Amino acid sequence: MNKSGKLIVVVAPSGSGKSTLIKRLKKDFPNLEESVSTTTRPKRAGERHGEAYFFVDRSDFISMRDRGEFLEWAEVHGNFYGTSKRFVEGRLASGKDLLFDLDVQGVDNMKEAFGDKARAIFIAPPSINELESRLRGRGTEADEVIKLRIDNAKKELLREHDYDYRVVNDELDGAYSRLKTIIQSILDT
Ligand code: ADP
Ligand code: 5GP
Repeated sequence: MNKSGKLIVVVAPSGSGKSTLIKRLKKDFPNLEESVSTTTRPKRAGERHGEAYFFVDRSDFISMRDRGEFLEWAEVHGNFYGTSKRFVEGRLASGKDLLFDLDVQGVDNMKEAFGDKARAIFIAPPSINELESRLRGRGTEADEVIKLRIDNAKKELLREHDYDYRVVNDELDGAYSRLKTIIQSILDT
């Protein structure tokens, strides 16, 4: 596999504000393309196939996984998520820098595959209470799904200091500015 492009992995507990921050990055870094993962998670309102994700059912996901189509895959909050080998190879070959939005298992696997070429940034919420109120405020998940995501967040937060960089998403503009500086420094090296 061509490993010349930059690989930036963003990892964060659900509800930390990762998607909000990534949306802003796309405007400031037009050459930084987000990897589109494949998932078995049900579509949220407004999500379209091929944009945030390729949505497939579990049997299709398992067939794809068994054919070796994923660079890494994981079960997260009861759904499967996988990074497409073909998508990543294609983009790297065309000189794109890639941004990945992965769970902690995914980051570990990317680090194993790419070593220091993959730079990992952990986005932390200011507190678990704030994370819960953001998840509730977003209103996209049922109560039991929110509980599962909070339980997982507590586990993921145990790893918040294990990565190359960490940004606390307290006040959005300040957090974004710190994140932007980190991404710029990765792209410049
Ligand atoms: P994630 O992608 O990490 O699951 P989202 O980006 O969807 O999280 O953010 C979760 C909710 O919190 C959204 O409703 C978003 O508008 C809100 N949010 C994101 N960042 C902040 C922030 N710094 N302060 C307050 N609310 C925020
Ligand atoms: P969501 O359902 O909120 O979009 O994502 C749930 C979690 O799955 C997030 O932590 C996200 O980073 C993670 N995720 C999304 N795509 C992938 C992927 O391809 N691989 C892995 N390992 N995790 C992913």
